[in-house]
Amino acid sequence: MTRIKDIIQHLESIAPLAYQESYDNSGLLTGNAKDDVTAVLISLDVTEQVVEEAIELGANLIVAHHPIIFKGLKSLTGKNYVERTVIKALKNDIAIYAIHTNLDNVHNGVNKKICDKLGLVNTKILAPKSAVLSKLVTFIPVNAVDKVKDAMFNAGSGGIGNYSECSFTVVGDGEFKPDEGSNPTIGRTGMREKVAEARVEIVLPSYLANAVINSLKNAHPYEEVAYYLSSLDNKNQQVGSGMIGELNTQLSGLDFMHYLKDKMALNVVKHTQILDKKIKKVAVCGGSGSFLLPAAKSKGADIFITSDYKYHEFFDADGDIIITDIGHYESEVYTKDLIYDILSEKFSKFALNLSKTVTNPISYL
Ligand SMILES: [Zn+2]
Repeated sequence: MTRIKDIIQHLESIAPLAYQESYDNSGLLTGNAKDDVTAVLISLDVTEQVVEEAIELGANLIVAHHPIIFKGLKSLTGKNYVERTVIKALKNDIAIYAIHTNLDNVHNGVNKKICDKLGLVNTKILAPKSAVLSKLVTFIPVNAVDKVKDAMFNAGSGGIGNYSECSFTVVGDGEFKPDEGSNPTIGRTGMREKVAEARVEIVLPSYLANAVINSLKNAHPYEEVAYYLSSLDNKNQQVGSGMIGELNTQLSGLDFMHYLKDKMALNVVKHTQILDKKIKKVAVCGGSGSFLLPAAKSKGADIFITSDYKYHEFFDADGDIIITDIGHYESEVYTKDLIYDILSEKFSKFALNLSKTVTNPISYL
């Protein structure tokens, strides 16, 4: 049987929890990870209606983008929709898992899905995150270098952009004296030893530091392994907010608006003045993305597509760019398909259901 934790492990291999924003609450919100999964319901939001849909389908796991428990709960009495939804899930043994800003912040996440809908190519993270990378330097006897590097690569280190298994190695003299109580692999107690060792440097995502150090220690032949772990200020180009890409052929502003409405199935688009220049570079951010306008401008985007724009913020377009607010729900509704695709890669014979409930609280007349 597939357990809830198997599903979680796969989702977090794509969108690690460490990449959620500090204010967020992604992860398992209700339920027990050790329970077997009967079926999965995938939704954008969790409402009472979505929980009812899960009950009807016999699905005991809801995987949603937005966390229904977001600000913390001090009581559970059913006085608002959040509490009633959580109570209904608990009473019916339904687990709720939220994959929110961690799915926004990875390369193949929410924003890549929007870029794919729009047929954008050369897609890159719009505002890459810093403080998420570390460097490990270690010293390995030359005959064990490949084995130790393989172990560290398998634990998730050595990736830089579209390259994997990256490292730098230089050979020199390692010296040490085994003291009383030691059990040296090379050398004798009380005698200084000189060994040809390689200094190996390797980059890793900071959240994997413990796993990589454990793999280093397990594969390294020495009793005591020397290493330095340090944080890097470098930005991780594969992790961060928003995305920018290019159209294969440039379009006029008005033609692009119609193209956008068609590709994202929109009834209405709010936008700033359509400028008299062709649209080629397109910046996107699913959900509330106004904070990314400076990044979209500095990277030369002709148009910025997001949602939740406030009146005064529209003025910030300032003749440089077109700001387009397509609606929060509309910008993220295809996230359901993204989660479906991620899960069906690994759990192909499993009952995965896309929620049919329209959870958008906003109607247009
Ligand atoms: Zn959202």
